[in-house]
Amino acid sequence: MSTPPPLHQHLDALDPGLLGAVVDGAARLTPEQALDLYHRCDPQSLGRLADRRCRALHGEDLRTYVIDRNINYTNICTAKCIFCAFKRSGHEDDAYTLDHDALLQKVRELVEIGGTQILMQGGMNPDLSLEWYVDLLGSIKSEFPGVHVHAFSPPEFIEFVRFFDPPGETLKQKVLYVMTRLRDAGLDSLPGGGGEIFAPAVRKRIGLGKCDAESWLTVMRAAHEMGFNTSATMMFGHIEGIADRVHHMELVRRWQDAAIDELADRGGGRYVAFISWPFQADNTVLGRLPEWGLDGGDGDADPFPGDAVARLDGTGKSIDHKGFGRSRRMAGSSAYLRTQALSRLYLDNIYSIGSSWVTMGPHIGQMGLLWGANDMGSVMMEENVVSSAGSTHCLNEAMICRLIRDAGFTPAQRDNAYDLLRIHDGPDSPDLVVEDWSLNRPDRLISEGSGDEPAEPGCGGSPEGASAPIDLTIKSSD
Ligand code: SF4
Repeated sequence: MSTPPPLHQHLDALDPGLLGAVVDGAARLTPEQALDLYHRCDPQSLGRLADRRCRALHGEDLRTYVIDRNINYTNICTAKCIFCAFKRSGHEDDAYTLDHDALLQKVRELVEIGGTQILMQGGMNPDLSLEWYVDLLGSIKSEFPGVHVHAFSPPEFIEFVRFFDPPGETLKQKVLYVMTRLRDAGLDSLPGGGGEIFAPAVRKRIGLGKCDAESWLTVMRAAHEMGFNTSATMMFGHIEGIADRVHHMELVRRWQDAAIDELADRGGGRYVAFISWPFQADNTVLGRLPEWGLDGGDGDADPFPGDAVARLDGTGKSIDHKGFGRSRRMAGSSAYLRTQALSRLYLDNIYSIGSSWVTMGPHIGQMGLLWGANDMGSVMMEENVVSSAGSTHCLNEAMICRLIRDAGFTPAQRDNAYDLLRIHDGPDSPDLVVEDWSLNRPDRLISEGSGDEPAEPGCGGSPEGASAPIDLTIKSSD
């Protein structure tokens, strides 16, 4: 049993005593205070608060990264997310599903460069059977028993239930059946992909065919009950309001409270990391929406439609503003850093906040370490999803170490459990042995089927009615 820090609803968001207590982990922000803080606290001060909180949790010295390979085993998917440039329906020339030999070769290449983990996610492909996944995991573990398999996000599990029709009365029981089969075959932990924005009004509009927030959270609850650690994610900077971002963090914090309170004493898992990143627009249907405020159609006096619709309790309805979903508000570097800083302050029960250099570029990713992030994420050999949408940054180990060191920290390689593998404080550190940095420039990511054609259009403009509030009941006994 653990008790979260108290709320102080009556205090102003900028109250120095409140903010000092949040930095010390002695108080937590209410959703209203968090929204107010985002709007009223200047970006630099918000970053400094998040940095102080991060240093209180992670110390002054080490900041981490992991070496993994992001393997996207198929791009064939039944969903039609309008922010996605990766998905194919199956008939296109560049639709693919990697066979087991190709997947094993990718793991082999990772191990050869000292990698410790694969992050394996794919489209939701109805042609793959449960045995296909079980056999794949078994093959990976038999050839590479030391490689951590971090795989299959909640939307994939929801579709596994639909495709495989496993035994069970409730969604969670069915998920647990599939999860148990995959764990027994070699699955080690779950990534938090597919979080996007939880608020129904936004989620229904951008994620056609993808699970709702309650299903996403239920999969993660099942994972935590089985003892898996997971991450949580948020993709922002499109049609959502700022209150939607806070609501998203509130759901993660609330379900994490329950996981810690109810499961920690019996070997349960939890969210160990939160990573947020801005929407990448290239080659997407969502990216074709006009950018709000740029064409003279929206004056400064008008609220962004996403803000007009968003509610801190997630009950916003698309009918609350006729312009909702018809324009997008992209998040630049400042909005990214402010949102990440807010996540560090709000999510007091999550250990790691990851910086997203893959989407923001190496140097904003580096700045993220001074805005509340303790982790630079992955030295990534391969990534196919955000690179399809225009983000093509790629860093090797020396570069990521140099970015961390130049930010004032000692780089350290970690594993998926955030245990340290190597601390680079000696002259043989990857960045300190480089003699010619011109040979170590950021490169384009390796990408499967990296065609330049846009994702299949025709999935924009979902008809949407009133949004229902999310059932926040956490059903541990299902
Ligand atoms: S983002 Fe959506 S459409 Fe794209 S692969 Fe994932 S589930 Fe499929």
